[in-house]
Amino acid sequence: MAGKKDYYEVLGVSKTATDEELKKAYRKLAKKYHPDANPDNKKEAEMKFKEINEAYETLSDPQKRKMYDQFGPEGPSGFGGTGGPFGGQGGYYSYTTSGFDGFSDFGDLGDIFSSFFGGGRSSSRNNNRPRQGDDLKYNMDISFEDSFLGVEREINITRNETCNTCNGTGARPGTRPEKCSVCHGTGNVTQVQNTILGQMQTTRPCSNCHGTGEVIKEPCDMCRGKGTVRKQAKIKVKIPAGINDGQTIVLRGEGEPGSKGGPKGDLYITMRVKKHSIYSRSGDNVICDIPITFTQATLGADLEIPLVDGTKEKYRIPEGTQPGTKFTIKNKGFKAINGNYQGDFVFKVQVQVPKRLTSEQREILTRLAKTMNEQPPVRKKGLFNWD
Ligand SMILES: [Zn+2]
Ligand SMILES: [Zn+2]
Repeated sequence: MAGKKDYYEVLGVSKTATDEELKKAYRKLAKKYHPDANPDNKKEAEMKFKEINEAYETLSDPQKRKMYDQFGPEGPSGFGGTGGPFGGQGGYYSYTTSGFDGFSDFGDLGDIFSSFFGGGRSSSRNNNRPRQGDDLKYNMDISFEDSFLGVEREINITRNETCNTCNGTGARPGTRPEKCSVCHGTGNVTQVQNTILGQMQTTRPCSNCHGTGEVIKEPCDMCRGKGTVRKQAKIKVKIPAGINDGQTIVLRGEGEPGSKGGPKGDLYITMRVKKHSIYSRSGDNVICDIPITFTQATLGADLEIPLVDGTKEKYRIPEGTQPGTKFTIKNKGFKAINGNYQGDFVFKVQVQVPKRLTSEQREILTRLAKTMNEQPPVRKKGLFNWD
């Protein structure tokens, strides 16, 4: 992953580019750098072509783009790499897919490639080739403190897994899927029709084998020929400190199994951070109200501010502190997921006026009041003397 280029740069678009702009930039570059269009420097064009495809694949998928914007090109810090924190479970955090896999899945972009392939490329999906498994989605509720400190959780998901009895072939052990006799194993049937314009050739998936090219005569009893079984899986998820409500973590290869030897899909876990009774979040800052007495506000005071991690921070407020004044404790806010930056802890003082006084307090205050026996002047708000 080292030295990975910025995907936006690769496509030459801004970070705010619309889907339409992305597609346009992609089409232009893909045409320019297609290896077949660059016979003189095929190698270089191929590299560039792969890069463009990788960038487009990520940015054209809203979910992947969000992840990319959130975590940058290297992924969530400290969570990259295969296996690593998961002890061989195979899942790891990322936001890209397996990258360039040939000319298989360009969908509506097929038209720009047809010229390079003699127009013979069929746009119909063929089930006969390896396909990646479906992605799974999961919502996870975490507390405000967990989002602040990071947490490790185990989740249970129900997903399809390759059937152990038939090793995913769907055929009863001892038997094998047989080549489809209708399409001869290709998964497609080609029909030739005579029309006014001459002969027209159409290709569609074979209905006898549903495009797989194989027919199972004796289905596996465990999976009834599907090749997969529903299973509960326990998966460990490491949530980085600083994760925000609505952000998503991707566990690669923890989705549904692929077919025909294709890779597994991914698991998308979206965070839902519960509201806190005292703290709230604004960007990477923690926001909170701190009650103080009117004497503390008037005379100044040393406060003990409770931080989100459970520790306390001493903070001196000056005399004459006005209600609603905001104070900032640097670097005690949320950690940024993709860097060393840390937000601040910002608290606003709420001056409490006592509802009851002892007779001694009342006496003292009355004496004080006599020294301040005038109401403060009402401030005029003119055009030039705001304050
Ligand atoms: Zn089976
Ligand atoms: Zn067939």
